[in-house]
Amino acid sequence: MGTLGNRRATVEIIQKYGFDLRKKYGQNFLVDTHILDKIVEAADITRNDFVLEIGPGIGTMTQRLAREAAEVVAVEIDRNLIPILNETLADLDNVTIINDDILKVDLPALAAQHGSRPMKVVANLPYYITTPIIMALFENHVPLQSITVMVQKEVADRMCVGPGTKDYGALSLAVQYYTKPEIITEVPASCFVPRPNVDSAVIRLTRYDAPPVSIEDEKWLFTLIRASFNQRRKTLANGIANAGIKGIGRGQVEEALLQMGLSAAVRGEALTLEQFAELSNRLYELRQ
Ligand code: SAM
Repeated sequence: MGTLGNRRATVEIIQKYGFDLRKKYGQNFLVDTHILDKIVEAADITRNDFVLEIGPGIGTMTQRLAREAAEVVAVEIDRNLIPILNETLADLDNVTIINDDILKVDLPALAAQHGSRPMKVVANLPYYITTPIIMALFENHVPLQSITVMVQKEVADRMCVGPGTKDYGALSLAVQYYTKPEIITEVPASCFVPRPNVDSAVIRLTRYDAPPVSIEDEKWLFTLIRASFNQRRKTLANGIANAGIKGIGRGQVEEALLQMGLSAAVRGEALTLEQFAELSNRLYELRQ
């Protein structure tokens, strides 16, 4: 099989297999070689790397990743794509295809099978589950080095923004707690077959060796962050007090905010990551 990446080769292989594109799986295949080059370059793949690709589709990016990396594991949910991948990746002996839902894959076990080698994730993500995928990668504590992914442009912006903007929320804070985010390039809808309804962007998230803030309990921090943004138009104190978190009522939230010199009426979107870290550590002490 020749190299994929252009519109003609993509349409040809889809037609050859009579493949029906499935909107519900976010199947928009990338058909722009310059963007493919940029993604692979930004992911900075070396001969020693273990790469996890999520949603290989017909294998366009997989072919390139396999030529650069030591090993590629590609997880594809749609079983109708497996025969296509078997053809397009036939010449590459360092690719393993797993036919499964990435959210059901035991990521720590997968990492362990590869000797817990540092993992680079590269993907043109299915947009309907971008946030759950990114959160699963963080929360499973696999030995991640970086995540270089195509996402909806608006989601890339959400990952990068700071407080005081409407896009700022739990995703921004999680991304910025674990990684340094950088937008690599914006990608117009015309670079995909079929065209999606949104513009896209490639973003690289480089994992910190140690998070930029110091925390008593990570799970506790993210429980509070999620609660703070649960009811966007309400105050942070209401959000946390109404979340039913064991040992935390309105009194403790107001006391912690007071200790920090913040108003009881402050909203979640006003607090920096450092302030969330401080609030979380204080509430950890104040919980009953
Ligand atoms: N990598 C290909 C490309 O760049 O042309 C395809 C990208 S397409 C945007 C997303 C791919 O993810 C599709 O192949 C889709 O079937 C697959 N996918 C969707 N949901 C998935 C899931 N939960 N787990 C694994 N793959 C999934």
